[in-house]
Amino acid sequence: MTMMTGKEYIASLRDLHPEVYFFGKKIESVVDEPMFQPHIHTAAMTYELAHSPEYEEVMTALSHLTGEKINRFTHIHQGTDDLVKKVRMMRLLGQKTGTCFQRCVGLDGLNALYVTTYDMDQKHGTTYHERFKKWLLEVQKNDLMPSGAMTDARGDRSLRPHQQKNKDTYLHIKERLDDGIIVSGVKAHITGAINSHEILTMPTRTMGEEDRDFALSFALPSDARGVTFVFSRQTNDTRRLDSPLDAGNPKYGIVGGEAIILFKDVFVPWERVFMAGEYDFTNELVETFAGYHRSNYGGCKVGLADVVIGGSYWTADAHGISKASHIIDKLTEMIAMAETCWSCTLACSYEGHKTSSGAYLIHPLLANVVKLNITRMVYEWMRVAQDIAGGKIITLPSEKDLENPEIGKAIEECFVGKEGFSTSDIIKMLRLIENMSVGAGLPEAMHGAGSPAAQKIMIARRGNIERKVELAKSVAGIKKDKEFEKIIGKDEEAYWKEVKETIRKRTKLRR
Ligand code: SF4
Ligand code: FE
Repeated sequence: MTMMTGKEYIASLRDLHPEVYFFGKKIESVVDEPMFQPHIHTAAMTYELAHSPEYEEVMTALSHLTGEKINRFTHIHQGTDDLVKKVRMMRLLGQKTGTCFQRCVGLDGLNALYVTTYDMDQKHGTTYHERFKKWLLEVQKNDLMPSGAMTDARGDRSLRPHQQKNKDTYLHIKERLDDGIIVSGVKAHITGAINSHEILTMPTRTMGEEDRDFALSFALPSDARGVTFVFSRQTNDTRRLDSPLDAGNPKYGIVGGEAIILFKDVFVPWERVFMAGEYDFTNELVETFAGYHRSNYGGCKVGLADVVIGGSYWTADAHGISKASHIIDKLTEMIAMAETCWSCTLACSYEGHKTSSGAYLIHPLLANVVKLNITRMVYEWMRVAQDIAGGKIITLPSEKDLENPEIGKAIEECFVGKEGFSTSDIIKMLRLIENMSVGAGLPEAMHGAGSPAAQKIMIARRGNIERKVELAKSVAGIKKDKEFEKIIGKDEEAYWKEVKETIRKRTKLRR
């Protein structure tokens, strides 16, 4: 089994020649394009850390297919211990990069398809699971990064996929051939898409019988014929072309480097097709994937919180106010919020269970609670980070002004902090806080892995209100309480009769 280093991963991307557009131009080499560097470095970290003895336990696992050591990003969870290590790995990577490291979407796709293809075969007598396992083995053997391409463009959302005027708003099967299928359509907001080796597609929603052709999952190399990527814009993205200091997080970037993927009459051989019309399993696939991915956010975003909390304290210290009670209070709030999300994701992993396929799944209700908390708390702790950082994060001059012989020295002097803190370090940290708290990371925390409404639907569905009603009825005495009757040693009705009689007698006596 190969386990690539960060450097080897970047070199491996040179073997691929995907068709990528950005700023209206075709990009000749993804690896050499300056705009893509930070995202590539971040994904490379998922490879690099797997070689560090310090992180080996969380970053690697033993393949259940071969028994060999593999990068955890290609692993099928074999127990709750794996689920816990997965979120530990995500917090670690968030801490190391301060941004989205992209590879989790593919990991969740691998696990969701492992579970769903097994169940599909049980019901339909198909052979998707074995087919999927063969491809998974290739992914593990070669340490590949598949992007998880789920979200479709979706057109008019009041219409089902088959009712759309333009069918390409959803990825779909155009033709079924003896040796494969022809597909067309679009996938949108796909994290890490241009620097992944493979594209793993999944349906974006539950499909009905008439949407059969949209109930589709397959894997293809990223440079397959007919596939085109358009890299998306992000807040302040061209800062990285201005100067490293202005970029905020020049090494690792802003969020996940999303792209849209256009499929135009693309041929997919049957051995790479994992769902082709089984609309009755789209709900299971979507929910399983979403559950895994929503649970991750209590790992990766808490890792980011660790960075921003550290940066906020450092900034306060650099300005001589780290001991002020309002600063300590704000930092404490940030820590408490982050650890609440972390506790939630740990619980969600420890409460995981074995599926019929043998793979372990997180606790679906708790996973949705994790993500719903993240959609609120990330905004809240980033608000506090901005509060501590002060107005400078939105008014700092550029690195070019700092380097200008006429004005640079004056800027240097007026932004100086407490003794021992250089102006350029202070600006570096403030730019990082700006990058993390003003940039695209906020809406990503809201909409990544599904918008809050999607989590609320799942929470409402799995919240088990009926059982809670029964509990309330039992405590209120509306329904029979077996345990209470055992404690009092008699029927409740008889018991309350006696109680009432005693009260009556006592009241009489008092009079
Ligand atoms: Fe991974 Fe988090 Fe990025 Fe999703 S948002 S891909 S879970 S780092
Ligand atoms: Fe995300």
